[in-house]
Amino acid sequence: MSEQQTELSKAQQYNFNKLQKRIRRNTGQAIADFNMIEDGDRIMVCLSGGKDSFTMLDILLSLKKSAPVDFSLIAVNLDQKQPGFPEDILPRYLESLGVEYKIIEEDTYSIVQDKIPEGKTTCSLCSRLRRGILYRNAKELGATKIALGHHRDDIIETLFLNMFHGGKMKAMPPKLVSDNGEHVVIRPLAYCREKDIIKYADLKQYPIIPCNLCGSQPNLQRQAIKQMLNGWDKQFPGRIETLFRSIQNVVPSHLADYELFDFKSIDRDSGVINGGDIGFDKEEFNDVSPADDIGVQAFEPGEMLNVTQID
Ligand code: SF4
Repeated sequence: MSEQQTELSKAQQYNFNKLQKRIRRNTGQAIADFNMIEDGDRIMVCLSGGKDSFTMLDILLSLKKSAPVDFSLIAVNLDQKQPGFPEDILPRYLESLGVEYKIIEEDTYSIVQDKIPEGKTTCSLCSRLRRGILYRNAKELGATKIALGHHRDDIIETLFLNMFHGGKMKAMPPKLVSDNGEHVVIRPLAYCREKDIIKYADLKQYPIIPCNLCGSQPNLQRQAIKQMLNGWDKQFPGRIETLFRSIQNVVPSHLADYELFDFKSIDRDSGVINGGDIGFDKEEFNDVSPADDIGVQAFEPGEMLNVTQID
């Protein structure tokens, strides 16, 4: 903890501890639910220098101390040679933590500038290159898992991006096999709220590296969805939690994807499937209270819940 943090008032310290506990518990819960970390794993923690990846590393280091399984962490940053990238920040920070780390230097910035005509979006080529480099390094470093710092709000935003612009009900999985088929990618912050991470990063005073060094414009479609979700969060507290719960509670027989669910085989002998047709009934929902759900109060009185193998 930095000098400034040691000067936190008692009330601030109490709130910080509560926040840290909540992020730890939500992370531990996601790790357990998706079996993200197993005995002997060597986790490559991708560190961009943003609030999310700093928080992820911090929480994984903290969970490692009390986890019932033995795993190791290696923090990895890719220096893409963007103009003004402050090269000394991450090594200094990581050395102060005493964590194993590697800074990879690859000038993807010039490649992207070279290949993409001015005014066109650079992100897809940039992220493809970055992904390839990270996968290659994960192999060289003997990493068994690659951890990314996406959180619950990223997952929900991606769902809406895909629905609004891609015609697909598809979000961002907490655990997946990489597109080259060689790695398991995990998102330990999948249950953590962005607003908690913002507060936490602020209190921890991480040496954040700005994310606009490449000069790319923010994704306007994502920004619009973020705004919509933030508006809902203010107007209807609990809605975002309910939305996230719906991603974990999918009923394929009541959607219309005939490749996902075998509608063709339904006949009178199939019996009632998932409650049958209540399409014409007056719908009544007991809104999931924010207090009932992950990411809000649910794990505050943690003693009530046997949350995780790892926490
Ligand atoms: S914002 Fe910049 S660094 Fe990030 S993916 Fe896009 S081009 Fe690459």
